[in-house]
Amino acid sequence: MVKIGVLALQGAVSEHVRSIEACGVEAIIVKSTDELNLVDGLILPGGESTTMRKLMDRHDILTPVIEFAQAGKPMFGTCAGLILLAKEIVGYDFAHIGVLNATVERNSFGRQVDSFETQLEVKGIATDFPAVFIRAPHIVEVEPNVEILATHEGKIVMVRQGHLLGCSFHPELTVDHRITAYFTEMVKESLAKKATV
Ligand code: GLN
Repeated sequence: MVKIGVLALQGAVSEHVRSIEACGVEAIIVKSTDELNLVDGLILPGGESTTMRKLMDRHDILTPVIEFAQAGKPMFGTCAGLILLAKEIVGYDFAHIGVLNATVERNSFGRQVDSFETQLEVKGIATDFPAVFIRAPHIVEVEPNVEILATHEGKIVMVRQGHLLGCSFHPELTVDHRITAYFTEMVKESLAKKATV
């Protein structure tokens, strides 16, 4: 059975587990390299990116996660997870995992609107996805190999770069599992590809 891990050092973990299971796939809580080695794809949840990075260092899992991505295994970052994936973060001179060819800006939807929900058109997935934004980042710019899947008020909020998927919002906080199902398909396709090599 396909196994999708959720990095479980901090943040919205159980919601992702529920969404993965709703897609008929096994969910694995990942806190260590041994657990990472069990999974075919990895979700980096929302939460607080600086805290998550500190915990990744403390659990010695940053390099294994970078290697996981470099091996072509699918990874999906939501909100803080998107910040972890990005190669550039506005105002910071370092990245975290740094594999997604995109520049992100943190907390970019205004202080007065900490969180909001809106219907988004997501290319190839939905015309009406209920997207929950919580102190969300947005994607300022992307390199040519990154496909833009959704924007909100002119700001990029979801992208795909081959086996990497990232979004500014929290698809796991609703009962709409279409985005998790899309990632599940990415994981299945990558396994099928591996099987034919
Ligand atoms: N603002 C958080 C950060 O910068 C992300 C918020 C979220 O994941 N909901 O890490």
